Amino acid sequence: MSKQIQAIRGMNDCLPEQTPAWQKVESTIRRVVASYGYSEIRTPMLEMTPLFCRAIGEVTDVVEKEMYTFEDRNGDSLSLRPEGTAACVRAGIQHGLLYNQERRLWYIGPMFRHERPQKGRYRQFHQFGVEVFGIASAEVDAEVILMSARLWREFGIEQHVKLQLNTLGSSEERAAYRDQLQSFLRANLDKLDEDSKRRTETNPLRVLDSKNPEVQELLADAPVLNDYLGEESKAHFATLCRLLESAGIAYEINPRLVRGLDYYNHTVFEWVTDSLGAQGTVCAGGRYDGMVEQLGGKPTPGFGFGMGLERLVLMLESLEKNGDLRSAVEVYLCAVGEGTAEAALKLAEQIRDAAPDCRLMTHCGGGNFKKQLKRADKNNAAVAFILGEDEIAQGQVTVKFLRGQAEQQSMTIEQAIELVQQGL
Ligand code: ATP
Ligand code: MG
Repeated sequence: MSKQIQAIRGMNDCLPEQTPAWQKVESTIRRVVASYGYSEIRTPMLEMTPLFCRAIGEVTDVVEKEMYTFEDRNGDSLSLRPEGTAACVRAGIQHGLLYNQERRLWYIGPMFRHERPQKGRYRQFHQFGVEVFGIASAEVDAEVILMSARLWREFGIEQHVKLQLNTLGSSEERAAYRDQLQSFLRANLDKLDEDSKRRTETNPLRVLDSKNPEVQELLADAPVLNDYLGEESKAHFATLCRLLESAGIAYEINPRLVRGLDYYNHTVFEWVTDSLGAQGTVCAGGRYDGMVEQLGGKPTPGFGFGMGLERLVLMLESLEKNGDLRSAVEVYLCAVGEGTAEAALKLAEQIRDAAPDCRLMTHCGGGNFKKQLKRADKNNAAVAFILGEDEIAQGQVTVKFLRGQAEQQSMTIEQAIELVQQGL
């Protein structure tokens, strides 16, 4: 036997037992985004590497350490997308979707990051995301957050997630604060760990979400971003808070919330849960008014989020919110005896014409009655339709109910079809 080839570490197969849970998540998402009037956008999984460096920022974890980057046969540097926003913006600019227009978009698909695989953290994972372009007012921030809140309710997990909010102000205010924070950190280098020391020089705001308790203690005396906010930024955030309150959405303001990607300004938010252990963020996003311009478009406000679907599916499983999602076969069609296969395939097609929603599986490969019924049972079928030589001669089919006590019956093909149409 030759050596087996395994999947790449951190990249999962989604097996037949798992796909119903994913399908449920996906169809719920599609329904909810449609109810807000959003349109789907699909972009390639590979992009030119500089797109991510410019959009996400050179000194973020994602670009520094996590991207799958390689040269293709032409020597171009390409990267598998680590997130969805950059490509949405790129496509929007390239196809003239953004200039002087409002766009409410959503996407779903695999993302790639070379991280250490663990529960809730993979190298290929899936995100659903929305991006709104061309609307600067806080109503959009509220609408998008309300959409995410609606999804939690649809999934029945609204009790298990909490909304954290913060504002980073305008890019100028953020830059002024960054300088002050950097000076403070430089003056206290001896109290910082290696990671925070490095970030002090490359991306000081990231020190704020250090998990190290000693660093957190030091930060109690650090300058706070709120003191650097101008009137406009404060008003934007106050409007968002008011809109969320009037919509009945509870939130907590977390002044340390800065987000890992460089592009945010004004509102940032995360939905966090404690039912997943360390990987507690299930959805994260915010405003990124500078990004379109940074990628070569005209200045255009943007707001969006990314939702990690593996973490959502894990949550639904651990909270037992999935119910019985097995897509059991309804009718298993047995064909017993010489020359019955033709009639069975024909009848199967006839039933699918008449009842397109019925899940009908035809037995293939012959074998005796007992063997075929065993297969029906294995597939969790509700009934078996049996076509033997006698049935075919009389234009009939035998119906055997595999659950409950109902007696086996013979009926005409028309009656059998009617039975299926009525939902058995
Ligand atoms: P984390 O702090 O967990 O690393 P992040 O800040 O890197 O998250 P974002 O870039 O904001 O995450 O991505 C949005 C969401 O995508 C996350 O909240 C999470 O649900 C999901 N996500 C991010 N990275 C992974 C991963 N490697 N595996 C699975 N899901 C992920
Ligand atoms: Mg990360």
